[in-house]
Amino acid sequence: MPLFLPHFNLQKLNTLAVPAVANFYVAVHDDDELREALTFACTENLPLLVLGGGSNIVLRADFPGVVIQLKSQGKEVVAEDEHFVWLKVAAGENWHHLVEYTLDNALYGLENLSLIPGSVGAAPIQNIGAYGVEVKDLITELSALEIRSGIVVNFTNESCRFDYRDSIFKQALKDQYVITSVTFRLRKTAQLNLSYPALRDTLAGLDNPSPQAVSEAVIGIRQSKLPDPALTPNVGSFFKNPIINLAQLQVLRTTYPDIVSYPVDTVRVKLAAGWLIDRAGWRGKEAAGAKVHAQQALVLTNPDRASGARVLALAELIQQSVRAQFGVTLEMEPRVYP
Ligand SMILES: Cc1cc2nc3c(=O)[nH]c(=O)nc-3n(C[C@H](O)[C@H](O)[C@H](O)COP(=O)(O)OP(=O)(O)OC[C@H]3O[C@@H](n4cnc5c(N)ncnc54)[C@H](O)[C@@H]3O)c2cc1C
Repeated sequence: MPLFLPHFNLQKLNTLAVPAVANFYVAVHDDDELREALTFACTENLPLLVLGGGSNIVLRADFPGVVIQLKSQGKEVVAEDEHFVWLKVAAGENWHHLVEYTLDNALYGLENLSLIPGSVGAAPIQNIGAYGVEVKDLITELSALEIRSGIVVNFTNESCRFDYRDSIFKQALKDQYVITSVTFRLRKTAQLNLSYPALRDTLAGLDNPSPQAVSEAVIGIRQSKLPDPALTPNVGSFFKNPIINLAQLQVLRTTYPDIVSYPVDTVRVKLAAGWLIDRAGWRGKEAAGAKVHAQQALVLTNPDRASGARVLALAELIQQSVRAQFGVTLEMEPRVYP
């Protein structure tokens, strides 16, 4: 039986360091403990928060329910051929430790995703991505436990309906499954993705960069741009890059010829949310006790460990001013609880 801890302080379990208390906290290490925790929440009729590393949530207030943190560990090679290894990884494993493990074992593909905080189980939820790679490119399948029935179901890559910072687990199946393991198809011979300009520039001096060099370059770029949550609490990008149609971009370009955009398909483009926030005058600004990071306007920080409500108040001010200036709606990336 896992240990249910009442009146549990969550401040150290969320990277925004928001002070908030949960009615109950329970760490689970396998599917049986997870089922027991879910049964407890169901019997007591309490809401659930499934937690990994707490690096993509905002706790608006105390959580009036059960926080279940996944602590399951384990990696297993489930298949192998001449070119690939299929590695099944438990949801509670730390993401960056997994990237390091794959590089140490000559398994390639995750190097561009180095140093993203959080757990393996959360990675598919928003299809984590960085420096030209999204995790959907590596996931072949995953296992998830249905909260209602306790039954474990396998999802193929296709059935996860991955999209930009999105998956079925944020849409049609939101709050219905707990991801318990993820299977990655990794290369035995590296095929580097240097499509991201800053990464290419950093590696320009090397003739034939290794995947380790790519990982180190990614880590270097991230450390120079993003605040370390252990020192300056944050959740990384606070907003998704908004997707608009080409016609809307043409209109914006007449006033803002230097607006930053990336093609999505033949009719849509993605705008750089950081550029919009910067141009709306928010970079380095402070309001309601939270701050807009001076090096990267897409990141909100919480240096004084203010409440989640205060961070959200700043986010709302930014959304309002970007909407007023550009007619574009910024969607928040982290999930808000309760
Ligand atoms: C400094 C910094 C940099 C970041 N950079 C990036 C980046 O480059 N790219 C990027 O994509 N993200 C980035 N992020 C966001 C974050 O790291 C990722 O979204 C990460 O996958 C969140 O993992 P987590 O374990 O902390 O999730 P949590 O914050 O614990 O949870 C996030 C959501 O997923 C749900 N969840 C978690 N685990 C499971 C599970 N096993 N089953 C079902 N639901 C689950 C939670 O209920 C919650 O809704 C960054 C964050 C920070 C702080």
